[in-house]
This record gives sequence, structure tokens and C-alpha cells, in this order.
Amino acid sequence: MNFCVLTIFPEMFDALAGYGIIRRAVESGRISIAPVNIRDYADGRHKVTDDRPYGGGSGMVMKPEPLAAAIRAARERLPEARTVLLSPRGRAFDQEAARQYAGCKGLIFVCGRYEGLDERICETYIDDEISIGDYILTGGELAAMVVIDAVTRNIPGVLGAEDAAECDSFSDGRLEYAHYTRPREFEESEVPEVLLSGNHRAIEDWRLESALLQTLLKRPDLLEKSELTDREKQIVKKWCRYLESLVSY
Ligand code: SAM
Repeated sequence: MNFCVLTIFPEMFDALAGYGIIRRAVESGRISIAPVNIRDYADGRHKVTDDRPYGGGSGMVMKPEPLAAAIRAARERLPEARTVLLSPRGRAFDQEAARQYAGCKGLIFVCGRYEGLDERICETYIDDEISIGDYILTGGELAAMVVIDAVTRNIPGVLGAEDAAECDSFSDGRLEYAHYTRPREFEESEVPEVLLSGNHRAIEDWRLESALLQTLLKRPDLLEKSELTDREKQIVKKWCRYLESLVSY
């Protein structure tokens, strides 16, 4: 997967490509990350990329000409890529979107700054607008890094078998089960006995129950949307009854 990122701060992406799984994905050639400075497409001695808003008001707006030129150049290099604007008004980015983008031929990200882009760029040059949450960042770079990281995890071969993406939270409409490692006892709290038993069937059952309980307690909205088996429904009902029994009327 080739990622191209249009930004006025290309150096920020050194941090993303320099560590852990993303670094290994770059080194193995499974992904490439090419940050491109939008300023390189701006005219004049000062390479200005922003200007005052028509109609007045505070803040600056990203000028359309450098953005259009940068997007056209990126599309020449990656003709089959989708052009994605990071934007707080975009569609909410989630695990399903990460999986879908992982199947794309390439992705060109446009990172806004200031008050955002001249609207004519959004209308003419952008395929998708995506948001990483209902809050305002100072720029699209961190959002692009979040998306690149989440998409990369879903590219075949990036994760080893031991941390495969299909076990992650949200992959099957629920949160992941609880994890434990050594020591066996920590601050008077013990690892659940079954995880030490070596009984793989019992461990799988425990993990299923743990995943459903985590979801019920922390993100019950996910259960509304997920299709549970009869066994899974039984587990959820059992915990609902238990929680109800804790409340005395
Ligand atoms: N004036 C804009 C508004 O109120 O919607 C906010 C502009 S923000 C300061 C500058 C840039 O940061 C945006 O153009 C966008 O690229 C990026 N950005 C901010 N919040 C974001 C979010 N939640 N998701 C994705 N990108 C975001």
C-alpha cells in the first residue's frame, strides 16, 4: 500500500515511520509513506499556502491553488489512489473503514491546517472526508497518522500470527478479552486460574466470556449491533442477571 500525505509539516511523519510495526511494514516494503510538502506547490518567494477568509472573520484558510497542484501531482504518481481529506466534519473513522481502506490501491491524505481548506478543493478533488472523533485538532497530520496506523494493521502480512488483526477489539463487533502476564500474583491480585490450566478449550471459553463482559460493561452499544450466537446470548444474559441482582429495590 502506498500512502502519500499532503501536509505543510512533512517532518512530523518521521515519527510514524520510525517505530514498531509501522517501521517494519515500511522496511519489508508492504507499505510506503511519502509525505509531500504542500509549500513546494505554492508560488512566489514566500511559498504562501494560506490566505484571509472571504467574508471576514478570524483565522486563515488554505489556498486552493497549491493544494490542487499537490493533489494532481500525487495522483500522477498514484493514479488508482483515493484522495482522503482529514476533517472534523467527515465520516467517523472506525475499524470497518480501516479494513476497507486496507484493500485500496493507494491513499492520498490531505491534511488541513488553520480553519481548513478552501471549499472548492473539497468539492472537486476529495473522494472521502473522514474524522477521527468529535473534537478539533490543530491539523490533519495526527489524524492521518492514526488512519495510516489503523489501516496498516489490516494489510495482509503486516502483523504476525501472534497478534493478528482478527483478534482485535471491534473486529467481531465486541471488545477484546482481558490480558494477563507474569507475575502470577501482583499487588494481591491473582491471574485467573483457568489461564494457567493449559486447557485450551477452557481458556477459549473464558476469553469469550471475558470479551462479552468487557463489551457489556464498557461498550454495550456494540452488543446492540452484533449478531450473537445462542451461547453468547446465554453468557450476556447470565451477566445481566448478575448485575441486576446487585441492585436492591
Ligand atoms: N475550522 C474547522 C472546524 O471548526 O471544523 C477546524 C479546522 S482544524 C483547526 C484544522 C485541520 O485539522 C482540519 O482542516 C482537519 O484537517 C484537521 N482536523 C481537526 N480535527 C479533526 C478531526 N477530528 N478529524 C480529522 N481531522 C481533523
